[in-house]
This record gives sequence, structure tokens and C-alpha cells, in this order.
Amino acid sequence: MVFLHHSLVAYQNWPEFENIIGGRYFLDSTRGSSPSTYHEEVKISLSIVDKQHPVTQGIEDIQVFDEVYGNFRVQPTVRPLVTTNHPESIPQVVWANEYMNSRIIYIQPGHGPQIFVDPSYRMLLQLAIRWVAGA
Ligand SMILES: [Zn+2]
Repeated sequence: MVFLHHSLVAYQNWPEFENIIGGRYFLDSTRGSSPSTYHEEVKISLSIVDKQHPVTQGIEDIQVFDEVYGNFRVQPTVRPLVTTNHPESIPQVVWANEYMNSRIIYIQPGHGPQIFVDPSYRMLLQLAIRWVAGA
């Protein structure tokens, strides 16, 4: 499965979803701290931190205009592939996860048209789809 952007916010009342996607965005303060945050239309530097993974091989670091999420939870068992140093974001913005026998990729960037035309982003998405399909 490949999950994009806002899908991290889905299934707020289904705890198992966090184990599938590998993280959780908090719409409210149910975990005892402040809710997760977002900021649209910001310049984001994306660094490929795992150049060996099939999903990131050949992709260079990129700068995009998109939306960052902050103060969300990432499961310690995910494999970070892409990070950012944006001050309003959690560092891990693309990761690989496994759930039962399924390959999972989560890609946090993906708010709108500005990033959808970026060739590196499109390649990342294509490689993610191919990898989860077993290619
Ligand atoms: Zn968005």
C-alpha cells in the first residue's frame, strides 16, 4: 500500500491504522499533548537519507513548495527514507513500513499541484508503487 499526505489523518478512531501506516496525526489532544499541526505553502527541503532503498535509488535531494505536518507520531519501527529539517515538520516525511506481509510506503508531501509536477516527486511516487507491487 502507498499512502499519501492527508491519509495520515484518516481513521482517527481505529488504533490499528497507526501500525499499518506507521504513524499518527492527532486531530485533538487525546494523547495528552497538543494536537498535530500543519502549514501550507511552505518551502521544504527534502533529503534522501536512505539511498539504498528501491524507492529512493537515483533520486536527488529536492526543494518543493508543499505543506508540512508537525507534532505527529512516527512509529520507531519504520525505515526513514526522506527527511526534512523544516522547523514546523517532524523530520521523517517518507518512510517504509511492513505490516504483516505487506509493504507500506508513506509519503507526507503531496498537498497540491505544485509538488505533483515535480519530476523527483513523481519518480518517488512511481518507485513507491512499483516497490509495494513487488517489482
Ligand atoms: Zn494538505
